[in-house]
Amino acid sequence: DGIVHPEQKPLDDEHELSLRPRSMGEFLGQKQMKENLSVFIEAAKKRNESLDHLFLIGPPGLGKTTLAQVVAHELGSEFKVTSAPALDKPKDLAGILTTVTAKTVFFIDEIHRLKPAIEEMLYIAMEDYELDWIIGQGPSARTIRIPIQPFTLVGATTKAGNVSSPLISRFGITCRFSFYDEKDMEAIVRRSSGILKVQIDDDAAALLARSARGTPRVVNRLLRRIRDFAQIRNSPVISSEVVAEGLKRLEIDSLGLERHDREILRIIIERYNGGPVGAETLAISIGESVDTLEDYYEPYLIQAGLIQRTPRGRVVTALAYEHLNLKPGNDAGL
Ligand code: ATP
Repeated sequence: DGIVHPEQKPLDDEHELSLRPRSMGEFLGQKQMKENLSVFIEAAKKRNESLDHLFLIGPPGLGKTTLAQVVAHELGSEFKVTSAPALDKPKDLAGILTTVTAKTVFFIDEIHRLKPAIEEMLYIAMEDYELDWIIGQGPSARTIRIPIQPFTLVGATTKAGNVSSPLISRFGITCRFSFYDEKDMEAIVRRSSGILKVQIDDDAAALLARSARGTPRVVNRLLRRIRDFAQIRNSPVISSEVVAEGLKRLEIDSLGLERHDREILRIIIERYNGGPVGAETLAISIGESVDTLEDYYEPYLIQAGLIQRTPRGRVVTALAYEHLNLKPGNDAGL
Protein backbone atom coordinates (compact mmCIF):
# COMPACT_ATOMS: atom_id res chain seq x y z
CA ASP A 1 0.00 0.00 0.00
CA GLY A 2 1.01 3.68 0.12
CA ILE A 3 4.63 4.31 0.97
CA VAL A 4 3.80 6.57 3.86
CA HIS A 5 1.05 4.43 5.36
CA PRO A 6 1.56 4.91 9.10
CA GLU A 7 0.44 1.36 9.77
CA GLN A 8 3.55 -0.07 8.14
CA LYS A 9 5.64 -0.03 11.25
CA PRO A 10 7.84 -3.13 11.19
CA LEU A 11 9.24 -2.36 7.73
CA ASP A 12 11.13 0.69 8.87
CA ASP A 13 11.42 0.02 12.55
CA GLU A 14 15.12 -0.68 12.52
CA HIS A 15 15.82 2.46 10.53
CA GLU A 16 13.60 4.54 12.75
CA LEU A 17 15.51 3.50 15.83
CA SER A 18 18.24 6.04 15.24
CA LEU A 19 15.66 8.80 14.77
CA ARG A 20 13.67 7.96 17.85
CA PRO A 21 14.00 10.68 20.50
CA ARG A 22 15.38 9.36 23.78
CA SER A 23 14.90 12.26 26.16
CA MET A 24 12.11 14.77 26.76
CA GLY A 25 14.31 17.45 25.19
CA GLU A 26 14.59 15.50 21.95
CA PHE A 27 10.86 14.77 21.88
CA LEU A 28 9.53 17.69 19.82
CA GLY A 29 6.05 19.23 19.85
CA GLN A 30 3.07 18.22 22.03
CA LYS A 31 4.20 21.06 24.32
CA GLN A 32 1.38 21.10 26.87
CA MET A 33 1.42 17.34 27.28
CA LYS A 34 5.20 17.31 27.72
CA GLU A 35 5.16 20.10 30.28
CA ASN A 36 2.56 18.35 32.40
CA LEU A 37 4.29 15.01 32.16
CA SER A 38 7.63 16.52 33.16
CA VAL A 39 6.01 17.83 36.34
CA PHE A 40 4.49 14.42 37.16
CA ILE A 41 7.83 12.71 36.50
CA GLU A 42 9.76 15.15 38.67
CA ALA A 43 7.22 14.80 41.47
CA ALA A 44 7.33 10.99 41.34
CA LYS A 45 11.12 11.09 41.42
CA LYS A 46 11.12 13.44 44.41
CA ARG A 47 8.77 11.13 46.27
CA ASN A 48 10.85 8.16 45.17
CA GLU A 49 7.69 6.48 43.93
CA SER A 50 6.68 4.89 40.67
CA LEU A 51 4.91 7.22 38.26
CA ASP A 52 1.13 6.91 38.09
CA HIS A 53 -0.19 4.72 35.26
CA LEU A 54 -0.26 6.53 31.95
CA PHE A 55 -2.85 6.27 29.19
CA LEU A 56 -1.78 7.41 25.71
CA ILE A 57 -4.39 8.05 23.05
CA GLY A 58 -3.84 9.01 19.44
CA PRO A 59 -3.51 7.96 15.82
CA PRO A 60 -0.54 5.80 14.81
CA GLY A 61 2.92 7.24 14.24
CA LEU A 62 2.50 10.28 16.49
CA GLY A 63 4.97 9.00 19.07
CA LYS A 64 3.15 6.97 21.72
CA THR A 65 5.83 4.28 21.89
CA THR A 66 8.50 6.96 21.74
CA LEU A 67 6.96 8.90 24.60
CA ALA A 68 6.70 5.78 26.76
CA GLN A 69 10.41 5.17 26.22
CA VAL A 70 11.22 8.80 26.94
CA VAL A 71 9.28 8.57 30.21
CA ALA A 72 11.31 5.50 31.23
CA HIS A 73 14.50 7.33 30.33
CA GLU A 74 13.54 10.42 32.34
CA LEU A 75 12.62 8.27 35.33
CA GLY A 76 15.84 6.31 34.98
CA SER A 77 13.67 3.18 34.89
CA GLU A 78 13.73 -0.08 33.02
CA PHE A 79 11.46 -0.21 29.93
CA LYS A 80 9.42 -3.26 28.98
CA VAL A 81 7.24 -3.42 25.94
CA THR A 82 4.51 -5.67 24.60
CA SER A 83 1.21 -5.37 22.78
CA ALA A 84 -2.21 -6.60 23.81
CA PRO A 85 -2.53 -9.17 21.00
CA ALA A 86 0.75 -10.77 22.18
CA LEU A 87 -0.76 -11.41 25.62
CA ASP A 88 -2.71 -14.54 24.90
CA LYS A 89 -2.99 -16.17 28.33
CA PRO A 90 -2.86 -14.76 31.89
CA LYS A 91 0.47 -16.48 32.30
CA ASP A 92 1.91 -14.30 29.53
CA LEU A 93 1.12 -11.20 31.56
CA ALA A 94 2.13 -12.83 34.85
CA GLY A 95 5.45 -13.83 33.27
CA ILE A 96 6.25 -10.18 32.61
CA LEU A 97 4.84 -8.65 35.78
CA THR A 98 6.60 -11.04 38.12
CA THR A 99 9.93 -9.97 36.66
CA VAL A 100 9.46 -6.19 36.65
CA THR A 101 11.73 -4.26 38.95
CA ALA A 102 10.48 -1.31 41.03
CA LYS A 103 9.42 1.71 38.90
CA THR A 104 9.67 -0.20 35.62
CA VAL A 105 7.76 1.41 32.77
CA PHE A 106 5.70 -1.35 31.19
CA PHE A 107 4.26 -0.40 27.82
CA ILE A 108 1.25 -2.21 26.34
CA ASP A 109 0.42 -1.15 22.81
CA GLU A 110 -3.10 -1.53 21.39
CA ILE A 111 -4.47 -1.85 24.89
CA HIS A 112 -8.04 -1.84 23.53
CA ARG A 113 -7.39 -5.39 22.32
CA LEU A 114 -6.75 -7.00 25.73
CA LYS A 115 -8.57 -10.25 26.44
CA PRO A 116 -11.03 -10.01 29.38
CA ALA A 117 -9.13 -12.46 31.63
CA ILE A 118 -5.91 -10.52 31.14
CA GLU A 119 -7.63 -7.20 31.65
CA GLU A 120 -8.98 -8.39 35.00
CA MET A 121 -5.56 -9.52 36.08
CA LEU A 122 -4.23 -6.11 35.12
CA TYR A 123 -6.82 -4.30 37.28
CA ILE A 124 -5.41 -5.82 40.46
CA ALA A 125 -1.84 -5.45 39.29
CA MET A 126 -2.37 -1.75 38.59
CA GLU A 127 -4.23 -1.06 41.78
CA ASP A 128 -2.59 -3.23 44.41
CA TYR A 129 0.66 -4.33 42.74
CA GLU A 130 -0.43 -7.92 43.20
CA LEU A 131 -1.39 -10.75 40.90
CA ASP A 132 -4.35 -13.04 41.41
CA TRP A 133 -3.17 -16.50 40.58
CA ILE A 134 -5.41 -19.58 40.51
CA ILE A 135 -3.81 -22.83 41.52
CA GLY A 136 -5.39 -26.22 41.17
CA GLN A 137 -8.51 -27.09 39.26
CA GLY A 138 -12.17 -27.70 39.92
CA PRO A 139 -13.52 -27.56 43.49
CA SER A 140 -10.02 -27.60 45.01
CA ALA A 141 -8.90 -24.56 43.00
CA ARG A 142 -7.88 -21.56 45.06
CA THR A 143 -6.60 -18.11 44.38
CA ILE A 144 -3.39 -16.81 45.80
CA ARG A 145 -2.11 -13.27 45.62
CA ILE A 146 1.43 -12.76 44.46
CA PRO A 147 3.04 -9.41 45.24
CA ILE A 148 4.83 -7.63 42.40
CA GLN A 149 7.04 -4.54 42.31
CA PRO A 150 5.32 -1.16 41.96
CA PHE A 151 5.48 -0.38 38.25
CA THR A 152 4.04 2.14 35.81
CA LEU A 153 1.73 0.81 33.15
CA VAL A 154 1.71 2.82 29.95
CA GLY A 155 -1.25 1.78 27.83
CA ALA A 156 -1.51 3.09 24.28
CA THR A 157 -4.48 3.02 21.98
CA THR A 158 -5.77 4.45 18.74
CA LYS A 159 -9.31 3.69 19.90
CA ALA A 160 -10.02 5.11 23.34
CA GLY A 161 -13.72 4.40 22.78
CA ASN A 162 -13.01 0.67 22.80
CA VAL A 163 -11.26 0.66 26.17
CA SER A 164 -13.49 -0.38 29.06
CA SER A 165 -14.21 2.20 31.74
CA PRO A 166 -12.84 0.06 34.63
CA LEU A 167 -9.51 0.01 32.83
CA ILE A 168 -9.56 3.70 31.95
CA SER A 169 -10.36 4.62 35.54
CA ARG A 170 -7.15 2.93 36.71
CA PHE A 171 -4.93 5.28 34.74
CA GLY A 172 -3.96 8.34 36.75
CA ILE A 173 -2.62 10.34 33.78
CA THR A 174 -4.08 10.62 30.29
CA CYS A 175 -2.21 12.06 27.32
CA ARG A 176 -4.07 12.77 24.12
CA PHE A 177 -1.82 13.14 21.08
CA SER A 178 -2.80 15.57 18.40
CA PHE A 179 -1.36 15.85 14.90
CA TYR A 180 1.81 17.95 14.92
CA ASP A 181 1.57 21.48 13.54
CA GLU A 182 3.79 22.67 10.72
CA LYS A 183 6.31 24.31 12.99
CA ASP A 184 6.85 21.16 15.03
CA MET A 185 6.96 19.02 11.89
CA GLU A 186 9.64 21.31 10.47
CA ALA A 187 11.65 20.94 13.65
CA ILE A 188 11.34 17.15 13.33
CA VAL A 189 12.52 17.31 9.69
CA ARG A 190 15.54 19.36 10.79
CA ARG A 191 16.37 17.03 13.63
CA SER A 192 16.03 13.91 11.46
CA SER A 193 18.02 15.38 8.57
CA GLY A 194 20.76 16.31 11.01
CA ILE A 195 20.92 12.72 12.31
CA LEU A 196 20.83 11.31 8.77
CA LYS A 197 23.43 13.90 7.67
CA VAL A 198 21.16 15.13 4.90
CA GLN A 199 21.30 18.78 3.87
CA ILE A 200 17.91 20.30 3.27
CA ASP A 201 17.07 23.95 2.61
CA ASP A 202 14.40 25.86 4.54
CA ASP A 203 11.72 25.85 1.81
CA ALA A 204 12.22 22.16 1.25
CA ALA A 205 11.92 21.39 4.96
CA ALA A 206 8.73 23.45 5.13
CA LEU A 207 7.21 21.70 2.11
CA LEU A 208 8.06 18.29 3.49
CA ALA A 209 6.64 19.25 6.89
CA ARG A 210 3.36 20.30 5.25
CA SER A 211 3.07 17.09 3.26
CA ALA A 212 3.37 14.51 6.01
CA ARG A 213 -0.12 14.47 7.59
CA GLY A 214 1.15 15.97 10.84
CA THR A 215 2.78 12.60 11.64
CA PRO A 216 6.46 12.21 12.63
CA ARG A 217 6.69 8.63 11.39
CA VAL A 218 5.42 9.71 7.98
CA VAL A 219 7.77 12.67 7.72
CA ASN A 220 10.77 10.51 8.59
CA ARG A 221 9.87 8.04 5.88
CA LEU A 222 9.28 10.76 3.35
CA LEU A 223 12.62 12.29 4.19
CA ARG A 224 14.36 8.99 3.46
CA ARG A 225 12.60 8.58 0.14
CA ILE A 226 13.29 12.17 -0.89
CA ARG A 227 16.91 11.65 0.07
CA ASP A 228 16.96 8.79 -2.45
CA PHE A 229 15.60 11.05 -5.18
CA ALA A 230 18.19 13.71 -4.32
CA GLN A 231 20.94 11.11 -4.49
CA ILE A 232 19.88 9.94 -7.93
CA ARG A 233 19.72 13.55 -9.13
CA ASN A 234 23.16 14.16 -7.64
CA SER A 235 21.76 17.07 -5.61
CA PRO A 236 23.95 17.57 -2.54
CA VAL A 237 21.25 19.68 -0.91
CA ILE A 238 17.55 18.79 -0.87
CA SER A 239 15.74 21.73 -2.43
CA SER A 240 11.98 22.33 -2.59
CA GLU A 241 12.20 21.28 -6.24
CA VAL A 242 13.52 17.88 -5.26
CA VAL A 243 10.83 17.54 -2.57
CA ALA A 244 8.10 18.55 -5.01
CA GLU A 245 9.31 16.04 -7.56
CA GLY A 246 9.56 13.31 -4.96
CA LEU A 247 6.08 14.02 -3.63
CA LYS A 248 4.71 13.89 -7.15
CA ARG A 249 6.32 10.53 -7.78
CA LEU A 250 4.95 9.23 -4.48
CA GLU A 251 1.52 10.58 -5.46
CA ILE A 252 1.30 12.78 -2.39
CA ASP A 253 -0.63 15.98 -2.99
CA SER A 254 -0.51 19.50 -1.55
CA LEU A 255 -2.54 18.48 1.52
CA GLY A 256 -0.33 15.48 2.16
CA LEU A 257 -2.96 13.02 0.94
CA GLU A 258 -1.96 9.74 -0.67
CA ARG A 259 -3.75 8.06 -3.52
CA HIS A 260 -5.78 5.97 -1.10
CA ASP A 261 -7.01 9.02 0.81
CA ARG A 262 -8.18 10.61 -2.41
CA GLU A 263 -9.86 7.36 -3.39
CA ILE A 264 -11.85 7.42 -0.14
CA LEU A 265 -13.06 10.96 -0.84
CA ARG A 266 -13.82 10.13 -4.45
CA ILE A 267 -15.84 7.05 -3.52
CA ILE A 268 -17.93 8.97 -1.00
CA ILE A 269 -18.57 11.68 -3.59
CA GLU A 270 -19.12 9.61 -6.67
CA ARG A 271 -20.74 6.50 -5.29
CA TYR A 272 -22.59 7.87 -2.32
CA ASN A 273 -23.32 11.35 -3.49
CA GLY A 274 -21.08 12.91 -0.86
CA GLY A 275 -22.45 10.74 1.97
CA PRO A 276 -23.54 9.92 4.54
CA VAL A 277 -22.10 6.46 4.16
CA GLY A 278 -21.51 3.98 7.00
CA ALA A 279 -17.95 3.00 7.96
CA GLU A 280 -18.50 -0.65 7.06
CA THR A 281 -19.88 0.08 3.62
CA LEU A 282 -17.08 2.53 2.98
CA ALA A 283 -14.43 0.10 4.20
CA ILE A 284 -15.73 -2.58 1.83
CA SER A 285 -15.78 -0.10 -1.04
CA ILE A 286 -12.12 0.77 -0.54
CA GLY A 287 -11.05 -2.80 0.19
CA GLU A 288 -9.80 -2.09 3.72
CA SER A 289 -10.91 -3.19 7.17
CA VAL A 290 -13.06 -0.86 9.26
CA ASP A 291 -10.16 -0.67 11.74
CA THR A 292 -7.72 0.52 9.09
CA LEU A 293 -10.23 3.04 7.80
CA GLU A 294 -11.01 4.38 11.25
CA ASP A 295 -7.49 4.29 12.69
CA TYR A 296 -5.27 5.22 9.79
CA TYR A 297 -7.20 7.16 7.17
CA GLU A 298 -10.07 8.96 8.83
CA PRO A 299 -8.31 10.85 11.63
CA TYR A 300 -6.24 12.87 9.21
CA LEU A 301 -9.07 13.37 6.71
CA ILE A 302 -11.22 14.67 9.56
CA GLN A 303 -8.46 16.88 10.93
CA ALA A 304 -7.81 18.28 7.44
CA GLY A 305 -11.50 19.21 7.25
CA LEU A 306 -12.22 16.90 4.33
CA ILE A 307 -14.72 14.55 5.92
CA GLN A 308 -17.00 14.63 8.92
CA ARG A 309 -18.35 11.83 11.06
CA THR A 310 -22.09 12.16 11.56
CA PRO A 311 -24.47 9.79 13.37
CA ARG A 312 -25.62 8.55 9.96
CA GLY A 313 -22.15 8.01 8.55
CA ARG A 314 -19.26 9.79 6.84
CA VAL A 315 -19.89 12.93 4.83
CA VAL A 316 -17.39 14.82 2.69
CA THR A 317 -17.09 18.58 3.09
CA ALA A 318 -17.06 21.35 0.50
CA LEU A 319 -13.26 21.41 0.87
CA ALA A 320 -13.08 17.81 -0.37
CA TYR A 321 -14.98 18.72 -3.55
CA GLU A 322 -12.71 21.70 -4.04
CA HIS A 323 -9.57 19.68 -3.44
CA LEU A 324 -10.54 17.01 -5.97
CA ASN A 325 -11.85 19.59 -8.37
CA LEU A 326 -15.31 18.06 -8.33
CA LYS A 327 -18.70 19.69 -8.00
CA PRO A 328 -21.47 18.61 -5.62
CA GLY A 329 -23.94 16.47 -7.53
CA ASN A 330 -21.07 15.42 -9.81
CA ASP A 331 -22.30 12.52 -11.88
CA ALA A 332 -18.97 11.23 -13.08
CA GLY A 333 -19.87 7.83 -11.52
CA LEU A 334 -17.31 5.15 -10.88
P1 ATP B 1 2.09 3.31 16.99
O1 ATP B 1 0.83 3.69 17.66
O2 ATP B 1 1.90 2.82 15.59
O3 ATP B 1 2.99 2.47 17.82
P2 ATP B 1 3.46 5.55 17.81
O4 ATP B 1 2.48 6.67 18.04
O5 ATP B 1 3.85 4.74 18.98
O6 ATP B 1 2.85 4.64 16.74
P3 ATP B 1 6.25 5.95 17.43
O7 ATP B 1 6.66 4.62 16.95
O8 ATP B 1 6.51 6.31 18.82
O9 ATP B 1 4.72 6.16 17.10
O10 ATP B 1 6.88 7.11 16.53
C1 ATP B 1 7.20 6.93 15.19
C2 ATP B 1 8.50 7.60 14.85
O11 ATP B 1 8.28 8.99 14.76
C3 ATP B 1 9.61 7.42 15.88
O12 ATP B 1 10.48 6.39 15.54
C4 ATP B 1 10.36 8.74 15.85
O13 ATP B 1 11.41 8.66 14.93
C5 ATP B 1 9.36 9.73 15.34
N1 ATP B 1 8.80 10.57 16.39
C6 ATP B 1 7.66 10.34 17.07
N2 ATP B 1 7.39 11.33 17.92
C7 ATP B 1 8.37 12.24 17.76
C8 ATP B 1 8.63 13.51 18.36
N3 ATP B 1 7.80 14.05 19.26
N4 ATP B 1 9.75 14.16 17.99
C9 ATP B 1 10.56 13.64 17.07
N5 ATP B 1 10.36 12.45 16.45
C10 ATP B 1 9.28 11.75 16.79
